Amino acid sequence: MLQKIIIGILATALIAVCSIWGYTAWQQQQAAAPAALVQAAAALPAKPAEPLKPETEIAPVAAQLPAEKADGTHFTYQYVSPRNPNLLAMYNMAREIDVLKQLPEVNQLDGWLTLPRPINFIAAECGTVNAFYAKDKGDIVLCYEMLELLVRQGAAIAEANGGTTRDQLDYLMANLRFLMLHEAGHALVDMLDLPSTGREEDAVDQLATTLMLSFVSADESQGDIAQKLQLASNFFLMTDNGQHDMATYADEHSVGAQRFFNLQCMVYGNNPGKYLRIVTSGRLPEARALRCEEESKQITRSWMRLIEPNIAPKHRMTAEEERAKIEEIQRKQVDSAQAPYMR
Ligand SMILES: [Zn+2]
Repeated sequence: MLQKIIIGILATALIAVCSIWGYTAWQQQQAAAPAALVQAAAALPAKPAEPLKPETEIAPVAAQLPAEKADGTHFTYQYVSPRNPNLLAMYNMAREIDVLKQLPEVNQLDGWLTLPRPINFIAAECGTVNAFYAKDKGDIVLCYEMLELLVRQGAAIAEANGGTTRDQLDYLMANLRFLMLHEAGHALVDMLDLPSTGREEDAVDQLATTLMLSFVSADESQGDIAQKLQLASNFFLMTDNGQHDMATYADEHSVGAQRFFNLQCMVYGNNPGKYLRIVTSGRLPEARALRCEEESKQITRSWMRLIEPNIAPKHRMTAEEERAKIEEIQRKQVDSAQAPYMR
């Protein structure tokens, strides 16, 4: 089971669901998944198998068994077959990789929090490039069109840099991870009625970054996570052509370059000594960097304070237990000495 630990505890609007997005039945696979990507995905850390539950013994009525602490709310996952034959390759790939279950932080949130209802993660055809939270149903929808865009962008980047299929997959997964956490942020703000005095779009970008930086697992080092956040932040630059009219400024989202720099600031500020290269490489101007440590810590602290009361009883730990668990995971962590963006 993945470790559900957070470092630091101590310390949209409803979008109409497209009419063509039908909950249709499974159709025969008609198009092959992008084979190289699926093959590369075979090397992804496998979702750990649930440990077999021992046969429950029927205890005598009088026995004083400790009451089982309540588990959190579990999520559901679904791949809806598309009507557009051009999207079948994305549908097949998503199912083969089981992409919605390859998102480590979503995995960690699944069953960790007590929510009024489950969050349903759904991959579906939308008729537009998007991912969104549908408030009426509690659905987080990843559109196959968005998946296709990320696959294409990843391929272009890998080709331009002489990269491999593995690099393409890394770009895809890093972006999906950030994107789905951003949408999970909208779901949590809605379901838990979390207070927010700033723009929700900025706040949920911050939550996605905070969760990626805060959860620890033995599969990835902090340097690996920082590198994946860099891949996710590249999306904001790639989709911002700098041509902003009044409509872009009026949008509920900050412009791409702002989202890019905010993310750099969060990562650098998380550990300025470790991630100094973000500044020296020119990805974050010094003038902004000066206050990032404070900014990053404040954002992390605020989000943790909002989330912490919603951790299910089963997953609550004393400070002592938490410290011991984190130390145990850190001992198992992969060597991060070679990770980029380190001094
Ligand atoms: Zn959003």
